[in-house]
Amino acid sequence: MRTNNGVLAVVSGPSGAGKGTVVSALINSCGSCFLSVSATTRPPREGEIPGKHYNFVSRDEFEDMIKKGELLEYAEYAGNYYGTPRRDIDLLLSEGKDVILEIDMQGGTMVREKRADAVLIFLTPPLIGDIEKRLRGRNTESEDSIKKRLETARRELSGAGSYDYIVINDSVDMAVEDIRCILRAERCSASRNPLAL
Ligand code: 5GP
Repeated sequence: MRTNNGVLAVVSGPSGAGKGTVVSALINSCGSCFLSVSATTRPPREGEIPGKHYNFVSRDEFEDMIKKGELLEYAEYAGNYYGTPRRDIDLLLSEGKDVILEIDMQGGTMVREKRADAVLIFLTPPLIGDIEKRLRGRNTESEDSIKKRLETARRELSGAGSYDYIVINDSVDMAVEDIRCILRAERCSASRNPLAL
């Protein structure tokens, strides 16, 4: 006997850890994994598609979503709001889908408080120096944004121990495989099995 519910998984890690690449490779290779699309007040980057990468909204619209209780969690990151819409998460989990939230650590902490069933995974590059290299290399951020992101990265790295798992992203394929193994193991955990309830 086992529960059919999917796993709610948070993936956090410093900007420049390769989270976006790892999470999209995970979604593409795992038919039962769904990525929650966040809302943000950050302007779209070149190539980002509204509704696929983010729902891009104004500050007023975002604050309205907060007031109406529409967000499971939200945070202000490098001067912009980011948040996870509550809608659809429980439905997907009850259909046996794993729901992935690619969010920052403040958001991860909020999810932990609200959802004891969530699994928190911290993704980090093998070398701390890689964070700045990757951030500069992708050419999407202003100098001011890079500075803010590096400050946040330092804070996030020091909090990694509060997460359930730490995955080192020295190869995208290996990091994806590690996350798939974590999801699989979590489905077998006693706390999710009706036998143990
Ligand atoms: P970026 O601007 O690089 O797309 O994202 C900046 C940071 O915000 C990343 O650490 C990303 O994981 C995080 N983020 C994206 N969506 C959400 C969300 O819905 N909630 C929170 N708390 N963080 C988010």
